[in-house]
Amino acid sequence: MTSASLSTSDWHARAANLRYETGHFIDGRFVDSVDKGRFTVINPATGTPLCEASAGTAADIDLAVAAAKRTVKSRVWSRMAPRDRMAVLASYARLIDANAERFALLDTLCMGKPIADMVNIDVPSAAKNFAYFGELVDKIEGTVTSTAQDAFHYILREPLGVVGCIVPWNYPLLMAAWKVAPALAAGNSVVLKPAEQSPLSALLMAQLFVEAGGPPGVFNVVNGLGETAGAALALHNDVAKIAFTGSTEIGKQMLIYAGQSNMKRVALECGGKTPQIFLADLPDMDTAVTYAINGIYGNMGEVCNAGSRLLIDRPIAEEFIARFIEKGKNAYKAGDPLDPATNLGPLVTASHRARVLDYIGRGKSEGARLEFGGNTPDLPGAYVNPTLFTGVNNQMTIAQQEIFGPVAAAIQIDGIADALTVANDSIYGLAASVWTRDLTVALKTVRDLEAGVIWVNCFDHGDMTQPFGGYKQSGQGRDKCLESLISYTQTKSAWIHLG
Ligand code: NAD
Repeated sequence: MTSASLSTSDWHARAANLRYETGHFIDGRFVDSVDKGRFTVINPATGTPLCEASAGTAADIDLAVAAAKRTVKSRVWSRMAPRDRMAVLASYARLIDANAERFALLDTLCMGKPIADMVNIDVPSAAKNFAYFGELVDKIEGTVTSTAQDAFHYILREPLGVVGCIVPWNYPLLMAAWKVAPALAAGNSVVLKPAEQSPLSALLMAQLFVEAGGPPGVFNVVNGLGETAGAALALHNDVAKIAFTGSTEIGKQMLIYAGQSNMKRVALECGGKTPQIFLADLPDMDTAVTYAINGIYGNMGEVCNAGSRLLIDRPIAEEFIARFIEKGKNAYKAGDPLDPATNLGPLVTASHRARVLDYIGRGKSEGARLEFGGNTPDLPGAYVNPTLFTGVNNQMTIAQQEIFGPVAAAIQIDGIADALTVANDSIYGLAASVWTRDLTVALKTVRDLEAGVIWVNCFDHGDMTQPFGGYKQSGQGRDKCLESLISYTQTKSAWIHLG
C-alpha cells in the first residue's frame, strides 16, 4: 500500500504503532541527556502530550561538538573519496524517501501539518535536497591563478569544520535538510538542534545517515530548548558556523553569540512579510486569486515567505476581493491532520494560536475590515480559521509584523509606483511577487523590489537551483542552490615561490 492510498484510520493505526526515539543522537548512537532532563512535546491537534524528549544542556552540546570535531580531525568524512561520499548521500536520499511514512507521522504529530503535505511536499523535497547536494560533491573545485613567473599560486576550497544547525518547527525535516545537506556535501560535520516543538524527525534523519554509510559522529542531533541547547551550540568555540532558520529576533541573537564566542560564521534565514502585487493588467484573475489564497493559507500560514500582504490595484480591487472571498472562505478547512483530505491543521501550539488571535484583535482595533475568519473552529486543537482583512493600510500592525498564521491583509494600491513603495516599506525582504502582462513593468519591478526571491505571474515556484533567502532583516544566507554549498566552505591560498 502506498502512502497516497492510506485512509485516516490507516494513518491513526500507524501513528499508534509508531516507534521513535526521543533522546539525542551523538557519535552514532541514541543517548539521554547528561542530567537526564526531559521536556514534554504536545500534539497540537489534540492538545495532549505526545512524548517526553531529552532536554539537552551545554553538557550534551559539548559531547556532540566533541564527537563532530573528532570526525573533522580524523578527516573520515572530508577526505572520503568524493565518489564514495556521493554514494552515501545518494543512498541517504533514497532512505529518506523510503521512510516517508515515518517522517510524515513524526512531523505531523509534533506540529500539526496535514499529513498529505508531508507526503507530497516535505519528505520528497528533503530527499531531493540530499540528492542535489550529493551530486555536487565532486564539483567543488579549487583554482590556479595567473601569477608571475617566479610563483605558482593555487586556491583550495575546504570544509569549515563543525557546523551547528538551528532550525524551526514549521517544516522540521525540510528546514533541517536545507542546512544539513549542503554542510555534509561540503565535507563538514554537523550538530543539529531542532526546534523543541518538533524534536523527533531530526533523530530519524541522523540515524538514517549512519544506515546509509555515513561515519558515526559526522551528523549529530541534540534536542532541547533554544535558550539552553541552542545558545550553547551558538556560543561554542569549536563550532565554525551556525546555520540558523527562525525568527528575526533570535537571528539577531545568533550574531551576538558569534561575537561573544569565536567570530563563527552565521547564516540567517529569518522572518518575512511577503507582498504579492496584483496589477490591473494581470494575466488571469482566477489563477492569481488561487495563488493568493494558497500563498497565505498553505501550511496554516506558518511559512516564512507566506504571501501575507495582498497589494491589489484599485481598478481590479473590488472584483479581486470578491473572488478571493468566494473562493478563499472555504478553500481551507480545519480538520484532523492525519486525514489525507485535510488541508488546514492546527497551529503549532496553543500559545502560538493566542499570538495569532491577538494579531487578529489588533487588526480589528486598528480599523481593518474582517471579511471572514478571525475565529477558531469547534475542534480541540490549536486551530485558527483562514482570515481575510481588507481596508488595511501598510502602517497597521497586521501589515508590518510577521503573524505566522492564516491571516491575509489586503491593501489597495494605485499602480506600480505606489505598489513598490508599499511593498518595500517593511523591515523584511524575503520574497515578493508581481502579477502583470507587461514585460517591461515586470522586469523593472523585479529590479526595484527589495527581496531575495521574486516571482512573476506565479508564487512559490522553484527548484533546487533557486537561491532561497532574504534581503534586509529576513536574513543574510541562501539555502538550496550552489551558493549555499559554497557557503559551507572556505578558501585556502597556497603561494609557492619558484625562484
Ligand atoms: P525561533 O526563532 O523561535 O526558533 C528557531 C530555533 O531557534 C529553534 O530551534 C529554537 O529552539 C532556537 N532558539 C530559540 N531561542 C534561542 C536562543 N536564545 N538561542 C539559541 N537558539 C534559540 O523561530 P520559530 O518560532 O521556531 O520559527 C518561526 C520563524 O522561523 C518565523 O519567523 C519564520 O519566518 C522563520 N523561518 C524562516 C525561514 C526562511 O527560510 N527565511 C524558513 C522557515 C521559518
